[in-house]
Amino acid sequence: MTGSPRFIVLLGPPGAGKGTQARLLGEILGLAHVSSGDLFREHIRARTDLGRLAQGYMDCGQLVPDEVTIAMIRNRLKQEDCRAGAILDGFPRTPAQAQALDQMLVDQCGCKVERVPYVKIPESTLVERLSGRWTCQQNGHVYHLRFNPPIVPGKCDLDGSALYQREDDREDTVRQRIRVYLEQTAPLVEHYRQRGVLVEIDGDGPIPEVSEALVRALQAA
Ligand code: ADP
Ligand code: AMP
Repeated sequence: MTGSPRFIVLLGPPGAGKGTQARLLGEILGLAHVSSGDLFREHIRARTDLGRLAQGYMDCGQLVPDEVTIAMIRNRLKQEDCRAGAILDGFPRTPAQAQALDQMLVDQCGCKVERVPYVKIPESTLVERLSGRWTCQQNGHVYHLRFNPPIVPGKCDLDGSALYQREDDREDTVRQRIRVYLEQTAPLVEHYRQRGVLVEIDGDGPIPEVSEALVRALQAA
């Protein structure tokens, strides 16, 4: 590994394109993609106690409690593939999680969050994005019926597994998730702005354009 580890946090409402962009950025920058939502969904599939606990909150669009979420991410960041850093997608989502992340990075590598791209998108677009989202069973690769369709309908281009619609992408749950985002996560925008690490990205363009803007913003860091 050369240079100090790079930890980048993608902020933005549900449906902004964080998962899509985190995966691409991870490949471009050679960093692990750490998605708290994907980790919870893995626990649900593996029928662990954490999965059972998380599912109750996820199905109704609420946040999983800080304590268990923080412990899960702390374990994930200790894994070998995060030694060079990571693109964090969906974590932190509360001020307590942001504070815990700072401490984890100090403990792990004496480092700080390097940059926080805030992916901005009009609220009216979010429901359209999420109601057309299809996710792959095996690895959580993400598609959209209109904006990013798979080559073979219903099948993941990358691993061939079946695509499904997330239970929490139903319109009523999406609206609840947006409310929760505005109440609990949106304050992190000012938190990171004050620390001088926030960079605003227009998320309302085609996927390759948003990627280019992100790469430019991270190179300028
Ligand atoms: P998040 O992780 O922020 O919730 P996703 O990356 O899962 O968002 O994207 C939500 C949906 O929008 C997915 O169906 C994805 O294919 C689609 N999408 C992502 N980025 C764009 C974009 N720039 N333009 C149109 N659709 C997009
Ligand atoms: P996501 O895949 O990021 O859209 O997250 C899906 C759901 O997982 C959220 O609506 C929450 O219920 C839960 N979740 C994901 N990340 C977190 C987090 N950092 N804190 C609490 N709950 C989370």
